[in-house]
Amino acid sequence: MLKTIRVMLIPNNKQRTRLFRFAGTARFAYNWALEQEQKNYDAGGKFLSDYELRRLFTQFKNEPDNQWLYTISNNVCKQAVKDAVNAYHKFFNGLAKHPRYKSRKHDKPAFYIDSGKIKFTGTHAKLESIALSKRKPRQCINWVGLAEHDQIPTDAKYYNPRISFNGLNWFLTVGIDIEAPEPIPPINDGIGIDLGIKDLAVCSSGHVYRNINKTGRVRRLKKKRRRLQRKISRKYEKNKKGESYQKTRNIIRSEKQLLRLTHRLTNIRTNYIHHATSEIVKREPSFIVMEDLNVSGMMKNKHLAKAIQEQEFAEFIRIMRYKCDWHGIRFITADRFYASSKLCSFCGHKKNNLKLSDRIYTCRHCGAVIDRDKNASINLYHYGRMKIHTDTLIGKSYAHYVAKPLERYSTRK
Ligand SMILES: [Zn+2]
Repeated sequence: MLKTIRVMLIPNNKQRTRLFRFAGTARFAYNWALEQEQKNYDAGGKFLSDYELRRLFTQFKNEPDNQWLYTISNNVCKQAVKDAVNAYHKFFNGLAKHPRYKSRKHDKPAFYIDSGKIKFTGTHAKLESIALSKRKPRQCINWVGLAEHDQIPTDAKYYNPRISFNGLNWFLTVGIDIEAPEPIPPINDGIGIDLGIKDLAVCSSGHVYRNINKTGRVRRLKKKRRRLQRKISRKYEKNKKGESYQKTRNIIRSEKQLLRLTHRLTNIRTNYIHHATSEIVKREPSFIVMEDLNVSGMMKNKHLAKAIQEQEFAEFIRIMRYKCDWHGIRFITADRFYASSKLCSFCGHKKNNLKLSDRIYTCRHCGAVIDRDKNASINLYHYGRMKIHTDTLIGKSYAHYVAKPLERYSTRK
């Protein structure tokens, strides 16, 4: 089973400089590859393959002006070229827009490091070729400290290690092949989960996970952030020279502070999602049912857009899904047109004129009175029961649903 681990790095000053150089070179190689493809296309040529581009890159490297490329590990450029080709393939298959040039200003500095050239101890990661010299005393610069100790096994096989900078810190992401025993499917009753804005998640088992954005702690942080944003904007206005805005040292400092606050808020939210999903999984339900949310469609409602964005629904579903995979829990997605909130969970009567403001569901048919979200979660649970029942009838076994390998690693070497 492939697990992805993300750990913060603690580089010293020299290492930090080198990391930025690596990321810059990766960006350069990526843009170079796009440029070649574009030129080639304009000249009427066929699409250049990964292999051809890399051959051209070697020629390019040997030109006297481009000798500096030899100071950076070969694989960094190689993978950047490969990434560019992959971006094109995604575009050809209709999965993404046309690849665009990476910008120094707007894109996250990131690069790939060869999986064969990375080593771990409990406290450090060895990134080969950070040091320019092969001499032993110089080699110690290759060892970069890890913020969390003993998170990454030292003797595993590593896949697709990537290093990126989020504006404040450097992070290392690595896929690890873990030989975990096949999980035993739990036998407890399933759970339907309804995601919402009032509460993050309402379970059919009766557990409710409240909206963390409504707690005092997050509210205070958000207020602090708003103030800081206003402060920065005022400073920009003050230092305006003619038409153009100037960046002063003071502004740079404040912007860094703002970034730190933003990251803190995201971390609080993601951490909360992890707690909620883990707790649900620990109750060992045999299946979990969730709606197939049309998040981008919901975002079009301008009154709700902000609240939805803050809740990170897509992230919740993604995390829930892989945790289910790990524990052998069957994950069921309810059809997008399944009216989970409009149905009565007692008698199945459909109430078509249900408004978004109706917090309590009252059934005209049987007279049931129930909380709206709770009603939806029970409906989702029923949906799961029914789905399992029909699947057994048509002979699909449990194994049909057990975790498929993650497709994200299709670029592995
Ligand atoms: Zn009813």
